[in-house]
Amino acid sequence: MTATDASPLTLYPLGDGLGSVSLVQSVGDDKMITNAARVSFGGDSDAPLNERDEKLIRYLLRHQHGSPFEHNLITFKIVCPIFVDRQMVRHRVGVSKNEISGRYVEMQERNFTPPSFRKQAPSNRQASVEDDGTLDQAEAARVWEEAWHQAFGAYQELLRLGVTREQARGVLPLSLYTESYYTFNVRSLLHFLELRDHEGAQYETRLFARAMAQLAEPLFPVTFREWRALHAG
Ligand SMILES: Cc1cc2nc3c(=O)[nH]c(=O)nc-3n(C[C@H](O)[C@H](O)[C@H](O)COP(=O)(O)OP(=O)(O)OC[C@H]3O[C@@H](n4cnc5c(N)ncnc54)[C@H](O)[C@@H]3O)c2cc1C
Repeated sequence: MTATDASPLTLYPLGDGLGSVSLVQSVGDDKMITNAARVSFGGDSDAPLNERDEKLIRYLLRHQHGSPFEHNLITFKIVCPIFVDRQMVRHRVGVSKNEISGRYVEMQERNFTPPSFRKQAPSNRQASVEDDGTLDQAEAARVWEEAWHQAFGAYQELLRLGVTREQARGVLPLSLYTESYYTFNVRSLLHFLELRDHEGAQYETRLFARAMAQLAEPLFPVTFREWRALHAG
């Protein structure tokens, strides 16, 4: 068993100093994956990872033998806008989550503002495209900021009037930051990355997915290398 030590590694995927992904802890390594696979014929061992193990990981990934990738865990602390979290929370299998409670605590004034606005994609009703210069960026930023200030001001005013936190939060927008602990195993993380670090996924969610991959990859380097190779070709 391996565990990361105290101070978490933190990345800031949105570049605003607010959204973050921290590696909190990890258990397991590439060797644990091959041992879990080899126990089926009594071949697990304490020997260091070797070339045969690397080949086995490649084989398991290529043939979708998923269960050996479940005997490990990676815990992230993720601070992200609610609209990103709403996509993350759809990943149900092999993922554990605990989130800050807006019933318990007063929500902090933490808002995501896009550094630039994108346009609706013409061909894909879920997707966005870069601004071709026809979008009034300054006006969009003004409208966004005004809406945020109005909403957060209303939240504070409701609290001041004595309204309970669990009701007052109802006026807060999806750009509000929330924070959670998420624990994945490698199988569920790779599945998440296949869906969320994909050109069809929302750009901001992709940035969080990439940060998670960046933190997890050094913990399972052979698995990630073989997984990337599999998906490259
Ligand atoms: C680009 C994109 C757009 C999306 N758009 C929408 C949308 O518009 N609306 C929307 O509601 N969701 C949307 N989703 C969410 C999507 O439908 C999935 O809920 C989400 O991606 C989680 O994937 P998953 O179910 O494979 O993962 P998990 O929930 O982690 O499940 C992992 C795997 O376990 C199996 N599994 C899990 N639950 C069941 C079950 N009940 N029965 C049988 N097998 C199961 C499946 O093989 C599944 O792939 C979108 C996702 C993406 C990536």
